[in-house]
Order: sequence, then C-alpha cells, then structure tokens
Amino acid sequence: MNQITAQLFEAQLHDMRAELLDRLHIQRGGVRGRAEAAHEAREHLDATHLRPDEGFDMEVALEEHEAADLMAIDKALQRMEAGQYGHCIDCAQRIVDARLQAQPTALRCLDCQTRFESA
Ligand SMILES: [Zn+2]
Repeated sequence: MNQITAQLFEAQLHDMRAELLDRLHIQRGGVRGRAEAAHEAREHLDATHLRPDEGFDMEVALEEHEAADLMAIDKALQRMEAGQYGHCIDCAQRIVDARLQAQPTALRCLDCQTRFESA
C-alpha cells in the first residue's frame, strides 16, 4: 500500500472513530442532556409498544456494538502505526484495497475471513 492510500484509510478510520464517539457521547446525555434523551426514548417506546426494559436492553446492545466497533478502529490504527495495516493477520498477504474501502477495520483477507467465520 502506498503512503497516500494509507493516509486515506487512516483519515477514514479517524472519521469513523470521531463519529462513534459523538454518538456514544449523545447517548450518554452529553450534548442534549439526559432528560431530553429519556423523553425521546419514552416516545419511541410508546410508538413501538415496547416495554421499557426491552428498550433498555436495545440501548445497551447498541452501546456494546459501538464499543466493539471502536475497539476494531483502534486496533486498525495501532496496526497502521506498526506498519502492518492492510496485511492479513492470518496469512500476512495484502488485503485488497476494495475490501479495505468497504471495511477499513478488516483484519483478514477474504479467504481467511471466510475460513475464520466458518471455523
Ligand atoms: Zn489471509
């Protein structure tokens, strides 16, 4: 991967990271305030006829999902710093740019990912 391509992916990863942090921040009531968020959540619950505890589970699940995304982004940035970004962690082959463009946090080439997921 040449320097310019690496910089593009790095910028994309930083954007994704900032966006995720924004979302987590808003969910935790940082920007709009907890009361407003809770009010919206209640309206949403009324609209979808969910019980409050189900709504709460959904919110927790969403945060866990975003926390996992955040870890994947940080790992990709660490690999970028170590000069390993874009290489498969299993077979060390180059991961094709098209795959990285679709998923900048990809750790494996398509072959190894398929093997990994079917293992
Ligand atoms: Zn591989």
